[in-house]
Amino acid sequence: MTTYDTIIIGAGHNGLVAAAYLAKQGKKVLVLERRAIVGGSVVTESFGEGFSVDAVQTGGTLRPDIIKSLKLEQPKSSERRAFISLQPDGNHLILDADPAKAAEAIKRFSENDALRWPEFIRFMNKAAGILDKAYATIMPRLPMDFTVREGYGLMEWGLKLRLAGRKDMLNFIRALPMTAQELVEEYFESEVVKAAVASLGIHGFTLGPMGAGTGYTLIHNWLNRGGLCHVNVGRAGEMTSALANAVKAFGGEVRTEAEVKSIRVENQAAKGVLLAGGEEIFAKSILSSADPKHTLLKLVGAQDLPPEFVWHAQSIKMRGSAAKIHLQTNGEHGIPDGTVVLAPSIKYLERAYDASKYGEVSEKPYLEMTTSGNTVSIHFQFAPYALKSGKWEVEGGKVEKLAIDTLAEYFPNLQSSIVNCKTLTPQDLEEIYGLTEGDINHGQLMLDQFLFMRPIPGWSNHKTPIDNLYLCGSGVHGGGGVSGAAGRNVVKVLE
Ligand SMILES: Cc1cc2nc3c(=O)[nH]c(=O)nc-3n(C[C@H](O)[C@H](O)[C@H](O)COP(=O)(O)OP(=O)(O)OC[C@H]3O[C@@H](n4cnc5c(N)ncnc54)[C@H](O)[C@@H]3O)c2cc1C
Repeated sequence: MTTYDTIIIGAGHNGLVAAAYLAKQGKKVLVLERRAIVGGSVVTESFGEGFSVDAVQTGGTLRPDIIKSLKLEQPKSSERRAFISLQPDGNHLILDADPAKAAEAIKRFSENDALRWPEFIRFMNKAAGILDKAYATIMPRLPMDFTVREGYGLMEWGLKLRLAGRKDMLNFIRALPMTAQELVEEYFESEVVKAAVASLGIHGFTLGPMGAGTGYTLIHNWLNRGGLCHVNVGRAGEMTSALANAVKAFGGEVRTEAEVKSIRVENQAAKGVLLAGGEEIFAKSILSSADPKHTLLKLVGAQDLPPEFVWHAQSIKMRGSAAKIHLQTNGEHGIPDGTVVLAPSIKYLERAYDASKYGEVSEKPYLEMTTSGNTVSIHFQFAPYALKSGKWEVEGGKVEKLAIDTLAEYFPNLQSSIVNCKTLTPQDLEEIYGLTEGDINHGQLMLDQFLFMRPIPGWSNHKTPIDNLYLCGSGVHGGGGVSGAAGRNVVKVLE
């Protein structure tokens, strides 16, 4: 019987990052993935001949320090494309990645906003940098006791925050609880500009731009994208294959079609895992990159956890409301390259969210499109996991039609260009990709679920009440989105 130093549940990018760092240290590691392919949400899949797409997430990349220390191939330098906000009158706002060109385009909507654009970009880059440092910091277990060593990271981050300068420090702290609307209103007067930027604050979250804390999510998404538009579109699979290859090159093992059914716990300590096929594998420590609810409530189970902790785990807010529609076309779809959003006004976005509060699919949705070759990928919000009525097996078709019909008003050739479609509903995200309630970030990024409160207050340092069991996916601090921070941080806890 082989005993491993560490078993990692899930071959999403965070699980693979953790595995690669540990294997590089010479640890005997085994990654277990329930699907036939690695990557989790960072995956390129084929849905038919010539119909290969990044199936789930839209874009993103690993933190540069991870790419460097794991000696991964740098993402091929792809030109940062424009962020395009569609307008009903055809007068679209094209925000080039070059601030000077973007300011020129903004002038058509407001001279004042064009003047303020460089300062907005400067502040957002600075704020994203501060958040990045927080994500690289292991949080102490507030409100529990923690050692000086555990508290040191937070103190160090506080110092970095202070070194950002008084004005930026204050504006960063103010921005977090603000609504995205309030944040953009501090800079801009044009509704078109405000809505375009605010849409970034709701991408992936079940909140509208008038929701408190969407100032924070706006900065979070800015950090993960490195600005407004997505990077590395169409290359998700390359990134996670490179990570899996790194794990193997450092001597680790990656097994696919190996679903963990339960984590074996004895005397409050994790000893190994039981696979769905009946095989038992033992290890000195278990890391789970599956979401915290799935890991704690399904793989461990309430019987092995303190009652109050179970209640906290049950209370983690998972509120998936995104669907994905991929269109294979003959290339004549008419949608420009870049990140294209349907976000004409703040009120439009807030109303799109309103529907989800009542378990309804937005009739006038917030859409975000990217293209790769002949395919068009549409991120659709809001399509709530928990429907008031109807079933996702039926509603999925309606979402697909609604997305295409809505876009056809802007791109008249789209309908006739479509060759094949593939739609993923929030239920599919749960069943196929293992995302509880279809929550794309393994738990909403809300102010009561971030920093030392992610995933559960008192348990923000990757540890759990079960000895030797650690969490390392998007649902823990550092996580949410593509970066690898959660996978990198857990390894520091183990050192
Ligand atoms: C529709 C959508 C759009 C998104 N858009 C963006 C975006 O634009 N930008 C961005 O930064 N992020 C985006 N995200 C979020 C981002 O993709 C995720 O937060 C991130 O990829 C999660 O990575 P992870 O490694 O933590 O977890 P996952 O990628 O979820 O990996 C976890 C892995 O664990 C496996 N697993 C689960 N349970 C078990 C088990 N019992 N046994 C074995 N294996 C198991 C799963 O199959 C999965 O492979 C999006 C996500 C979705 C779904």
